[in-house]
This record gives sequence, structure tokens and C-alpha cells, in this order.
Amino acid sequence: LASKLPKVGTTIFTRMSQLAVETGALNLSQGFPDFDSPAPLREAVARHIAAGHNQYAPMTGLPALRQQVAAKVLALYGCNADADSEVTIVPGATEAIFCAVQALIHPGDEAIVLDPCYDSYEPSVELAGGRCVHVPLALPDFSIDWQRLADAITPRTRLIFINSPHNPSGALISRDDLDRLAVLIRDRNIHLISDEVYEHLVFDGVRHASVLAHEELYQRAFVVSSFGKTYHVTGWKTGYVVAPPALSAELRKIHQYVTFCGVTPLQYALADFMIEHPEHIAELPGFYQSKRDLFCDLLRGSRFTFNRAAGTYFQLADYSAIRPDLDDVAMAEWLTREHGVAAIPVSVFYQDAPRDLRLVRFCFAKREETLRQAAEKLRAV
Ligand code: PMP
Ligand code: GLN
Repeated sequence: LASKLPKVGTTIFTRMSQLAVETGALNLSQGFPDFDSPAPLREAVARHIAAGHNQYAPMTGLPALRQQVAAKVLALYGCNADADSEVTIVPGATEAIFCAVQALIHPGDEAIVLDPCYDSYEPSVELAGGRCVHVPLALPDFSIDWQRLADAITPRTRLIFINSPHNPSGALISRDDLDRLAVLIRDRNIHLISDEVYEHLVFDGVRHASVLAHEELYQRAFVVSSFGKTYHVTGWKTGYVVAPPALSAELRKIHQYVTFCGVTPLQYALADFMIEHPEHIAELPGFYQSKRDLFCDLLRGSRFTFNRAAGTYFQLADYSAIRPDLDDVAMAEWLTREHGVAAIPVSVFYQDAPRDLRLVRFCFAKREETLRQAAEKLRAV
């Protein structure tokens, strides 16, 4: 068989989680909570299954859930998206990204990704017959290098991916960044996929700068989010896309043949929970900020160095003072095997990682006890 993705292996998330299981290490690698979702949300799923909500959902998503999403984006971002023509419920942000890419990219087209970037972008582009052009974010703060981005645009560029809050760095895109981006693509036929799956995980009182709040950019954007991150249910693989009607229509043509629809009882439960517990979203930044601060405070007694993540549930840590001889893949493995804490190397999010990159990513979406145990092990490294 001639592979369509010859360079692709099994993702680092699968590999590191597997290694954590094999070695009995605390798993701070793949991003998922080790605590449960709110009980009323889980009970709602059971209730809806018992009530017989077990057949196909509408292809575009349950109307009640689409309405909740529309109400949310209006309240938070002032985006007056129509629940019927601009909101689509999908089985996970990954599926949404895949479908949006297939909708945008024709053979020979180019998509710009800002490295380090989430691992599903490039294979999605390649399967559409396109090619990714990698533009590194500027270190040490993972900000956009505007000159390099401008230089990377060619007549074949059809798509730019942005991701804020950013996995793996936790960095944020500002409103000013969005304005600059709007100017950059204004007279060009370029669309955006704005990966905002961590939209509610923004700390220190900062407001998330969503493309949904930017009228001009929104006209060209697929804005993707994930209930998995927001409601501590990554295993539910349920998310949504907000995009203008013409873009949503193209996305739906593809979504209907990739999965057709998302999981029905989960959509009922999420709609109920959003109606009954609006405070959940409001409390989320504080909830995760305390975890970040606990983890970082405990890590201060270690030889890792770091700047606190501005968003997401990931904390980067520099290990130059510990094992500068190891590259980050070897370091992540060594930490897992020898010190009982699994982490994700950052170079895997790059096409061409800087040679001296000495960063690993820890997920702090964990119980206090897990974070304390992990930090204790990391202080001993
Ligand atoms: N984008 C980013 C940046 C992510 O970290 C994730 C989380 N795995 C996803 C997309 C995919 O989200 P989902 O699990 O809803 O497919
Ligand atoms: N987004 C998660 C992370 O960055 C992993 C999701 C996955 O395993 N595909 O850790």
C-alpha cells in the first residue's frame, strides 16, 4: 500500500500515555483531566439514554445545543451567529478541523501553520492534497513573528491556522494580533481556522480574544471549540464550529460524510447542563488558574525553569539546568521511566524545532493530590 501519510506514525499522546501506563508513572503527558466531570452532566447523559434519545442526532447538531452555543458566543463575544446556519455540533474539534480543511484546501494549495502547532493540522492538509508552510512562533514567548508570517504568504496560500490559547505553550493571541492578521489577509483569498478549544482557560483576569469577537476576521473563519475541555469530558469527543453560513454549508457537506452527526445523548446532556449551570464556564478560569498556581508554586523548588502559562491546562518547563545533554523526546522518556512523571516533548509540535529547545509540557488538569505527588517527584530530578 502506498501510504497517504508516509511521515506519520502514532501520535506522541498515544505513545506517552502508553509509556505512563507501562511504567506506572503519573501521567501529565496527554491532555485530559484525572477528575470527573460535574455529576449533573453525567446524570443527564444517563437520563437521556433512559429516555430513548439514542438514535441519530440531526446532522448539524441538536437544535437545543446549537441554540446554547449561539447564546454563549453572543454573550461572551458579541457574535450574533445564527444557531441554524452558523453553528454545527461535531464529534470533536479534531473532526471539525479535518472537515474545515477539506472544505478549504484544493490540491496544490498551501496552508500556513504557526509552529509549534497541534499535530492534526498538517495531516488534514496533506490528505486534502495541500501543503503546510511552517512559520515558527518567536521564542521565548511564542508570539507571532509578523514579518515571517507575511513572508510565508504566496498566491497559493488559502488558509492560516491560529490557536489561542495555544497548545503547547499556553500563550495567547491578543486583539491587536487579530487586527494585524485582518490587515494581512484583507485583500487576499485566505481563510482562517481558529482553534479555540481552550477558550475558557485564560488566566490572570485576561479576556480571551476570540475571532468570534472580530467581525472582519469572522467572515473568513471557522472557529472551533471543544466541550471536552470545557466540561472535563475529553472522552466524549464533542465540539462545535461557528462559521458564517456559506462556510458552514461547505463544512457540513463534508461532515455529513465523515461522521454524519455527533453522539445524541451527549448533545442532550450538554444542552441541559449549559442551561442549568451557566456558572460552570464563569468559574473555569479560576478553577484551572488555582491548579496552575499550585503546580508552579510546587515546581519552584525544582531545577526546572518556567513562565506561568497564560492559558490552557499545559505548563511548559525548561530543563536546561537538569539534563541539557538530552533532547526533549529523550528527556520526556527519561522523566517517565526514571522519575515517574510522564510529559510531552515540545519538538514534536514543530517541523524544524530549534536544536537547543529544552522544553517539556506538563498537563495540570489533575487533582491536587496528583499535582503534589508529581511536583515532589519533579523536585527530586
Ligand atoms: N486542538 C487543540 C489545540 C487541542 O489541544 C485539542 C485537544 N486534543 C484538539 C484540537 C482536539 O479536541 P477534541 O478532543 O475535541 O477533538
Ligand atoms: N490535545 C491533547 C493534548 O495535546 C491530546 C489529544 C489527543 O490525544 N489526540 O495532549
